[in-house]
Amino acid sequence: MWVVTGATGQLGRLVIDSLLESVPAEQVVAVVRDEGKAAGLAARGVRLRIADYDDPATLRGAFAAGDRVLLISGSEVGRRLPQHTAVIDAAKEADVALLAYTGVLGGPAADFALADEHKATEEALLASGLPYVFLRNGWYHENFTAQLGPVLEVGRVVAAAGEGRVASASRADYAAAAAAVLTGEGHEGKAYELSGDTAWSFTEYAAEISRLSGKEVRYTPVGAEEQRANLLAAGLPEQYAAILVGVDEAIERGLLAATPGDLSRLIGRPTTPIGDAIAAALES
Ligand code: NDP
Repeated sequence: MWVVTGATGQLGRLVIDSLLESVPAEQVVAVVRDEGKAAGLAARGVRLRIADYDDPATLRGAFAAGDRVLLISGSEVGRRLPQHTAVIDAAKEADVALLAYTGVLGGPAADFALADEHKATEEALLASGLPYVFLRNGWYHENFTAQLGPVLEVGRVVAAAGEGRVASASRADYAAAAAAVLTGEGHEGKAYELSGDTAWSFTEYAAEISRLSGKEVRYTPVGAEEQRANLLAAGLPEQYAAILVGVDEAIERGLLAATPGDLSRLIGRPTTPIGDAIAAALES
């Protein structure tokens, strides 16, 4: 069986879509915590197993011997290491054939706060002795284009990233790579550094928004303190604001700019350009 955790999330749904292009639905398993959210998946013939990363007893029924499993990292920052460890323990107990994990671009070299749980999860997976694949995902285009409404309203992209560059790619690109690894051969023990083919700066991002929207948008680089204050004023909790500023600083230092080409090689096509993601967001 091909098994995807976090299957009702944005990335997970796209992984299931990709898997269904090459695998019969009855051999695809969605591990979800909320059965109601998975009704659409069940209607397509995908099997459901109900489990919560916070509840090891439920995870025991989530995996079976021989499964090829994708662990999609959880969304509750600060709780993810025990959650992921519980998934790894359950996968080990079940004797799965492969456990692929969605970590962060750079792996051990990613020194910003948001990367900590990913690095610790990779270490736990290595220590488990399970056959593994590290899918070290760079940033999603959608992290940026989700803010397009307010950006167009004020005509400014604001970040504490200086002229740093980001090699982002679409969620669908990362999903296709995960499906390729689950269904393909020869990936065991590999760490893939997954990122877009092209790294862009925020100046270029603003110019691309201007070109595609017909409205002038400029990039305003700010300092870390100012960006933190902006995020707090926008209603973000302190911890989350600090994490996002840490990501901006990591971008300025070039930590999310690597373009080794692993993603386009895995998916057998170029990655989606940022302009396509902007155009899609403008249409939605
Ligand atoms: P989503 O928030 O859309 O999906 C997260 C998934 O994890 C959901 O299906 C959610 O379940 C599931 N989940 C969370 N907590 C638990 C739990 N306790 N037990 C079981 N399932 C749980 O995020 P994305 O799909 O967009 O991204 C996937 C992951 O990638 C994120 O969770 C995060 O770790 C990371 N990420 C990466 C980014 C990047 O740019 N590379 C940006 C943002 C996040 P449910 O559907 O029930 O809520």
